Amino acid sequence: MTIVSDVHALLEKLGVARDAYTGGDLIVRTPITGEEIARVATISADAVDGVIARAADAFVAWRKVPGPRRGELVRILGNVLRDNKEALGRLVSFEAGKVLSEGLGEVQEMIDICDFAVGLSRQLYGLTIQSERPDHRLIEQWHPAGVVGIISAFNFPVAVWSWNAALALVCGDPCIWKPSEKTPLTALATHALFDEAVRQFGADAPAGLSALIIGDGAIGQRLVDDRRVPVISATGSTRMGRIVGERVARRFGRSILELGGNNASIVTPSADLDLTLRAVAFGAMGTAGQRCTTLRRLIVHESVYDALIGKLKQVYANISVGCPVSSDALVGPLIDEAAFTAMQDSLKAATAAGGAVHGGTRVDVNGTGSFYVRPALVEMPAQTGPVVEETFAPILYVLKYTDLDQAIALQNDVPQGLSSSIFGTNLLEVEQFLSAAGSDCGIANVNIGPSGAEIGGAFGGEKETGGGRESGSDAWRAYMRRQTNTINYGRTLPLAQGVKFDV
Ligand code: NAD
Repeated sequence: MTIVSDVHALLEKLGVARDAYTGGDLIVRTPITGEEIARVATISADAVDGVIARAADAFVAWRKVPGPRRGELVRILGNVLRDNKEALGRLVSFEAGKVLSEGLGEVQEMIDICDFAVGLSRQLYGLTIQSERPDHRLIEQWHPAGVVGIISAFNFPVAVWSWNAALALVCGDPCIWKPSEKTPLTALATHALFDEAVRQFGADAPAGLSALIIGDGAIGQRLVDDRRVPVISATGSTRMGRIVGERVARRFGRSILELGGNNASIVTPSADLDLTLRAVAFGAMGTAGQRCTTLRRLIVHESVYDALIGKLKQVYANISVGCPVSSDALVGPLIDEAAFTAMQDSLKAATAAGGAVHGGTRVDVNGTGSFYVRPALVEMPAQTGPVVEETFAPILYVLKYTDLDQAIALQNDVPQGLSSSIFGTNLLEVEQFLSAAGSDCGIANVNIGPSGAEIGGAFGGEKETGGGRESGSDAWRAYMRRQTNTINYGRTLPLAQGVKFDV
């Protein structure tokens, strides 16, 4: 395989200038083999100031461009992405190690959010509200919020940008993107495609409407601490979100936090076990367990435990682990050695807590520089130790339950609150899971796993997942500021609540 030349050819095809990925200070490696594939220049902390200043200037112009016209830019962006789906999807696979269908799926998600945002650009609705005063009315309208800072994680290196940027742009906000330092190439390519969309769009797009800043957390922190960036959308670990959330709050900015998950599925006695098996396999092993919505805990009723777990062990023993671009393997590599070490540490801790580990060993696919593993299934006597933490690797902890109240309590008894699901055909049990006394997560699914969200619904979770919502439903409101207007169209001045103030 000639990964370096393949990657450089893709970058060239996607419109990235050669000096952007050669000769810089940040070494980029592919998790497929561990080899160096590029060197990207990082921005200095001081230079971030100028980027923010340009974005703030762009805001003054962009907020006055009508919403549907702003939507036109996002429509063009969606089409540019359609034209380049194959190349960008492959690049995602090379840089993040996703199997090809998932690399392509990530770009499809970008296209889908663009379509969604174009529709939204004509629907940024406010309200008309009854006034208690005669000849008065109240309205609520939504104005652009200002510059949006987007900090993204390695595992969805491009989709997370688009979830935020497509909405922010139609809402009238410029964007500054700080991608993961592990995936700068897909960011460079995405931004080159954005520049192409701007070229096709024409002069209404001000300079600085979208900027890319490459660097580590300290560079991200420059955005986080700057008052000229009223909205910070940060996707990544809870550790990062705790720092970012506190710092943004200190300056009374708004943060949209999309942090770690520890997602569970409950398998009830009435579940279709064949369907459950397939859903569990994708949920727990897809993307090599490196999704925020990855299934990490399986809570199985004792009456179906042996039947399901017996089959699941076979699936785990036989799942194909291999090169994500040159084979049909379903499980690709971990992102790096640190991820492998974290996985092994969690498995040791699980064993110490009484767990029975199946799998989890390293698989030699492309030599010692890359980290492929057989996914691990761990039968646990109780929800303790590493089970209540998010280990960003393919480990599925399995627990047994006897009644649904107990299963729901277990499902909710972790610090994270992103995604969850139930398998079953008993309407009463399913509805209990979806009720106010059921799952405490931002996402609760029925007869599918917790991962694999689609554009349309609001995406995000509670507790240590951060509380943010992105993408669908009314998530656009986080990128705008709400204004309430009271309008008097009469000739008198009645005061609210009957107050008298005659001068
Ligand atoms: P990470 O927290 O290590 O890094 C995420 C981003 O935050 C990177 O761009 C990093 O440079 C930046 N960052 C780190 N410290 C910062 C600071 N102090 N100030 C500003 N920026 C800072 O996460 P990762 O390893 O790239 O991604 C995996 C994690 O992301 C997992 O926990 C996963 O669950 C989570 N994730 C969540 C979602 C979601 O939507 N909830 C989606 C994808 C990933």
